[in-house]
Amino acid sequence: MTEFLNSVYGEFNICFNLIKFDHIISDEGYDGDDITNLFNTLYDGIALQIFVPNDYQYRGQARFYELKNVVRKDQIDTGILNHDVGHNLGLRHPFICERVTRDPSNPNYNADVAGDYVIDTNAAPNFYPIMNYVSEDCKTYSGNLTNCHGEQYTNLTESDLKNVMTWTFCPRIIFTTGQKITIHETLQNCSSKLFNNTINENAIDLTSKNSDLDYSIEPDNQTGVIWESPDIWVRNQSDGFIIQEDEVLKFVSNQTAVYVYVKVRNIFCDASSGEDELKLYWAKGGLSQDWPTVWEGATANGLQIGNNVGTKNIPSISAGGHTILEFEWQPVNPDIYEDAGFKKPWMFCFLSRIVSQDDPMSYPEIANVAENTRNNNIIAYKNTTVENIGLSGELGSIFVGNFNENEMKRIEEK
Ligand SMILES: [Zn+2]
Repeated sequence: MTEFLNSVYGEFNICFNLIKFDHIISDEGYDGDDITNLFNTLYDGIALQIFVPNDYQYRGQARFYELKNVVRKDQIDTGILNHDVGHNLGLRHPFICERVTRDPSNPNYNADVAGDYVIDTNAAPNFYPIMNYVSEDCKTYSGNLTNCHGEQYTNLTESDLKNVMTWTFCPRIIFTTGQKITIHETLQNCSSKLFNNTINENAIDLTSKNSDLDYSIEPDNQTGVIWESPDIWVRNQSDGFIIQEDEVLKFVSNQTAVYVYVKVRNIFCDASSGEDELKLYWAKGGLSQDWPTVWEGATANGLQIGNNVGTKNIPSISAGGHTILEFEWQPVNPDIYEDAGFKKPWMFCFLSRIVSQDDPMSYPEIANVAENTRNNNIIAYKNTTVENIGLSGELGSIFVGNFNENEMKRIEEK
């Protein structure tokens, strides 16, 4: 559904992301009732709600300037969806009576105050009953019908016949420049401020999630615990591209690294530049982790309590795609923190920050990293556990092999 919308709206930088999908079990909508009373709040942030009934009396129905519409199930990849979202975003039907002239000096000129109020959509009829006057390729109209002022429609073009906002059996895939401007003006200026959290002045929108409830809206008011990002995971061996799950990290020795993985998502309609960076930091858990002092390298009681882990280039990510970056990190023996009297000696935290000219911080960073993470969707935060498995005493080795070469096996210690 979002792919279909983005194929038409993405061209002028209107980008749709799926936030949530859920089922409503209800008899309403099966028997031709008006189901707009089903519009309720399944998601308490601001988002366009699209209801998709199996059966419905209309193919689609939208509330003008509101974030609600209904699209019958068989219409989700037709022009109906584009059309009704157009109404949500402030567009009217272009076939409501207006004068034919497009010449502002003509005394009859009313394109700016009549019909759809968009001056570069022609005065046009509802094409549904007169499709026989429209060529099969939807490029020309050959009728001599007149509008409510008795004027013949002239100059009807492909952009009128295939216009997203008209009633036509042609593919509804064209917006005029005036319609595109109207949509952007609705987003910027809608008096209810309905769309304010959707406006993104940046050239791109990269993000790592704080939780499954994080839909990249800033600040993230949906996530509860902010330091459990599912987009950061830690492994004792370099297998995190395949196994995207956390492990308890093991301190083996001062020469045995572990691996940290960060997923970066591009939720924009364009590919990212390939010139962005991801910075990863660690800090000792169980103590105050002021940004940036602790994370950029600090000590307490003579022990390191935070530092840079590394910086990696973020390769170009396609629209709607993601990439995973791998970092090596040398854990510190938790016993030495315990011996020095630290609370929660086993707790270590990671902070990932996307550094991008195209997608800067939305809110200035302060000392409180939890708040920075909530405010900026380019920051993610993860608490992890490191245990000392201190390899003292006798060592033995066990040979483990995978004799079925076609299938990967995963072996876990319990
Ligand atoms: Zn309509």
